[in-house]
Amino acid sequence: MYSCSLERCSMFTRPNGNTIDTSKNIRQGTGGLKKRKQMTKHQAYYSGLSGSADLHMHSTYSDGLGTIQQILHHVQHHTDVDVIALTDHNVVEGALRARDLWARGNYRFDFVVGEEISTREGHMLALFIEKRIPPNLSIERSIDLVHEQGGLAIIAHPLNPLFRQSCQREVLDRIFNASNVWLDGIETWNASFCGIYTNRMAMRSNREVYGWPEVGNSDAHTIHAIGCGCTWFKGSTAQHLRAAIESGLCAPGGKLWSMHDYLRLARHRMNKRRKERREQVA
Ligand SMILES: [Zn+2]
Ligand SMILES: [Zn+2]
Repeated sequence: MYSCSLERCSMFTRPNGNTIDTSKNIRQGTGGLKKRKQMTKHQAYYSGLSGSADLHMHSTYSDGLGTIQQILHHVQHHTDVDVIALTDHNVVEGALRARDLWARGNYRFDFVVGEEISTREGHMLALFIEKRIPPNLSIERSIDLVHEQGGLAIIAHPLNPLFRQSCQREVLDRIFNASNVWLDGIETWNASFCGIYTNRMAMRSNREVYGWPEVGNSDAHTIHAIGCGCTWFKGSTAQHLRAAIESGLCAPGGKLWSMHDYLRLARHRMNKRRKERREQVA
């Protein structure tokens, strides 16, 4: 059994002293939403959550199609996202380089360095970090390493029964019941195939049991998918976003990848395989 449910306990205090008041979250964050719904743009606007962030995307530094230059250009000219985080699989180099480019440019959006870590129990996003966190560690150890750097640890695309890189219920229960490790958030809207059947399950479980701050992201592997999943928050900067996640006053929003995003990715992977085969024969 869970040690605490949202009805019985509305205050969570993290070991770092920050307190989340879930009853406040119920009024202003995700609590006011239906059990399995993301927040629409209209609802976000009337809740005072006018900022939008996309905190999960991939570049050519892992398995994404877009270069860091293309990503920055696309976000600037073709989206209205206020904050992005680049979260390549198990590397942070691309995000650090992208931040250098971003700092030298005159971009209208804010940039956060991140990583998507392949922990032993599933994928986890690390945001506001500076150093790479290695893969294949336990989820508890990975969370600790994120917090040692002053970063935020957020579970990515949980509860997908078919995707073995997705954290399952027993892992979430274990973290929820632990007294010495804490999560900063959970991705309850993932716009990729990982979220098709499970976003609603994640929202329901989180709103009924865990009460972690919820984020929504694109998990974009093609630049055109950037922004199709988002996190609504009050304000417009990376620090506003961080404050919103830390206080639980953020909400997931967006839609799923379009068919074009899948086709672009499939075409790219097919061409890559063909090229590799040609190189093997040569
Ligand atoms: Zn993932
Ligand atoms: Zn991802």
